Amino acid sequence: MRDAFASETGSVVQTGTLYTVSAPSGAGKTSLVKALVDSDSQVTVSVSHTTRARRPGEEDGVNYHFVDREAFLAMLDRNAFLEHAQVFDNFYGTSRDWVEETLGSGRDVILEIDWQGAAQVRRILPDTVGIFILPPSQEALRERLTGRGQDDESVIERRMGLAIDEMSHFVEADYLVINDDFQVALAELQSILVAQRQRLERQQQRHSQLLQALLKRD
Ligand code: 5GP
Repeated sequence: MRDAFASETGSVVQTGTLYTVSAPSGAGKTSLVKALVDSDSQVTVSVSHTTRARRPGEEDGVNYHFVDREAFLAMLDRNAFLEHAQVFDNFYGTSRDWVEETLGSGRDVILEIDWQGAAQVRRILPDTVGIFILPPSQEALRERLTGRGQDDESVIERRMGLAIDEMSHFVEADYLVINDDFQVALAELQSILVAQRQRLERQQQRHSQLLQALLKRD
């Protein structure tokens, strides 16, 4: 991963773990990721750039960096995105510099991105850990999409169709979480992060002196 990232980005050595979290709209991904990040100081979530209109309650710089199409295309031109995608009629992209700096500082990073973005990131950084969140049923998904009360019926139908398309990509992930009970799903996400941190290569980086000392013979 280090070589891939260095050649992609120029120089920086990656130390944190990069996660992609994908899900159809309405699966509860944003709330789960927020709870996960709030419960774990070693992980942070990337704030994407998007050309889509701000929804009520959303804040610039918190939920997204809201930019117009022109600004987005200018960023794309100067290779400012690690990955980008068109979802519905809007563009979304992940800031390359921010991800690079944050991973370099040793923190884990979550990208809340669609399957297209997750596939792009995996191609550049094959060690990226992919997590997919699914709803417990189509009915629950429809209810959650309707429950937002922010879109009309035709928009909801279109989103249902696209949600099914998005869900079909769950097989590309490393981990699958079903969000039936929020607290259970959150605990499952937390356990994925804990397990990843105990992987041999991570532990070797973290405890190199201890491991050397343990194997020393007099
Ligand atoms: P929404 O407009 O409902 O916030 O997000 C629509 C979709 O765009 C979601 O599947 C979300 O994960 C995805 N998305 C948000 N930010 C990014 C990004 O930076 N890159 C990619 N590829 N997808 C994103």
